[in-house]
Amino acid sequence: VKRRTDGEPPTPATRPPRVIVPDLVAHRGSSGEILLREEERDHVRSRRLRDGDEVVVLDGKGARARAHLTRRGTALTLLGFEELSGALPGEPSRRVTVLLACAEPARIEWAVEKGTECGAARFVLLEAARSQRAHVVALRSRLPRLRRIAAEATKQCGRTIVPEIEGPEEIEVLLRKEECPGRARRPLLLAEPSGERIGAPDSRPDLVRPGGEITLAVGPEGGFTLSEISLFEGFGAVPVSLGPRVLRLETAVVAALTLLVGTE
Ligand code: SAM
Repeated sequence: VKRRTDGEPPTPATRPPRVIVPDLVAHRGSSGEILLREEERDHVRSRRLRDGDEVVVLDGKGARARAHLTRRGTALTLLGFEELSGALPGEPSRRVTVLLACAEPARIEWAVEKGTECGAARFVLLEAARSQRAHVVALRSRLPRLRRIAAEATKQCGRTIVPEIEGPEEIEVLLRKEECPGRARRPLLLAEPSGERIGAPDSRPDLVRPGGEITLAVGPEGGFTLSEISLFEGFGAVPVSLGPRVLRLETAVVAALTLLVGTE
């Protein structure tokens, strides 16, 4: 909020718009122009930005710079890189991977958009027993679209890193990959209405402790089967409940992330 000196109420400070340039780091030290990709040009056009307007440039992996728009909003000239130390702007203290069972693509898109806003670091789509085959096939071909949705949400909400989106994977194949040697083992939670409650005043604090990494699995519309639940448990998963109501999978993603990303 900008303080005003003329007695008027405070007005919201304007935040420079964000654009993504995946190879931003390659332009460090160069004074030339950077041409924007088609989707970024569309973004600039829809925001009615003009040449000379300042933007924040992200590579989606952790680098940030300031730039001016040029060439009728189709290119940038860099003003300088932001030298960042400590927590990256907009990034939560805990890295949460969401294993998300395939479901109706519109629900998954919603989960990716809102889950990105709530701080998810990574989404891996799962081919669960109760995922419809048609949805698995549709989502496999929609990965580029899901990645664009995550990138747009990253810009909109002021994060620095675009969540990774992978899959669809079979549950067992993924769990074996995740625990392969050399990969740090991280806590694994399984969202299940019958599990141990998290987020209530008397629930176990270690399950929502900030910092580090954690993985959360969310089931399809029909829920995980008993054999899938046993499979997860065999890999050390703790079933956790988000309360007494049965949530749609996309609501479960948002509710869980708000508890798991940690204090910021
Ligand atoms: N048909 C399932 C049932 O009646 O139990 C509900 C499936 S729900 C629509 C989809 C997924 O969201 C579940 O598999 C679970 O991972 C998650 N979920 C929904 N409500 C939850 C809750 N209260 N606690 C934990 N997870 C929940």
